[in-house]
Order: sequence, then structure tokens, then C-alpha cells
Amino acid sequence: MTKQMASGVDMNHWFYIRRRLRERGVEMITSATVEEVKREAILLKVGEETKKLSGIEAIILAVGVRSKNELFEPLKEASREVQAVGDAREPRNALEAALDGAKVGAKI
Ligand SMILES: Cc1cc2nc3c(=O)[nH]c(=O)nc-3n(C[C@H](O)[C@H](O)[C@H](O)COP(=O)(O)OP(=O)(O)OC[C@H]3O[C@@H](n4cnc5c(N)ncnc54)[C@H](O)[C@@H]3O)c2cc1C
Repeated sequence: MTKQMASGVDMNHWFYIRRRLRERGVEMITSATVEEVKREAILLKVGEETKKLSGIEAIILAVGVRSKNELFEPLKEASREVQAVGDAREPRNALEAALDGAKVGAKI
């Protein structure tokens, strides 16, 4: 797990999300490594300590994203000018992807 929660989320949104999570008694653990997933519990390594989480109803994996752009290199070799935009360049959000496309579109 990362050191920071919701690192890509707007600070204003995160303020309200975090408040709602706290109000509902959600324990937020960062910088942890999942060591074992058992039927009745999950074992987490947090620093030097092993933590056992039990009473689990669901496990949701949100493990990050990376670009899928394997077409880029072959196209670059086959053409004079090829630009990667949006998530193919770097995964972010829809607005940034659209802005990327608009900037490149304005240049050509
Ligand atoms: C689960 C999830 C939730 C998200 N939620 C949000 C959100 O709430 N708000 C937000 O702003 N952003 C969100 N995003 C991010 C947002 O979806 C992306 O940043 C945005 O869609 C990137 O746009 P894009 O045009 O670069 O790529 P995409 O939207 O991925 O478009 C690429 C297109 O190319 C097509 N394609 C790929 N390979 C080929 C090929 N070889 N030939 C032909 N077509 C091909 C794909 O099928 C796809 O249609 C979310 C992303 C995910 C995965």
C-alpha cells in the first residue's frame, strides 16, 4: 500500500471523503504490505508489526494503473510524427487526457 491515501484525488474532495470515512469508523492504514489473505482474516505487515484484520466482508483491490501503449513504438517507427496523449502517455483523469489531446490537436 502507498504512504498516502487518495493521492490522485482533489484535496477538497478528499477532505469530505475522509470525514465520511472517519464518521463511519473506517480505520485507514497506509504503508502496509498484505502478507496473507485467509478466509477469516488478513495479515498485514505495518512497519515491523504484523496486524490481523478480521471480520472481513469484502476485499477490494485498487492497485494503481499504468499506460498500455504498445502500439506507440511500432507507429513511431512507421510514421514521421506520432504523439501519445491521455492515458497512453500517463494515466491520470479524463479531463487531463482530453486536455492532452486538445494541446496536440492544436499543434498539428
Ligand atoms: C475504473 C476507472 C475509473 C475512472 N474514473 C474516473 C473518474 O471518475 N473521473 C475521471 O476524470 N477519470 C476517471 N478515470 C480515468 C479516465 O477514464 C481516463 O483518464 C480517460 O478515459 C483516458 O482517456 P484516453 O482517451 O486517454 O483513454 P481511453 O479512454 O482508455 O481510450 C482509449 C481507447 O482506445 C481504444 N484502443 C486501445 N487500443 C486500441 C487499438 N489497438 N485499436 C483501436 N482502439 C484501441 C480503447 O478501447 C479505448 O476506447 C477512471 C479510470 C478507470 C480505469
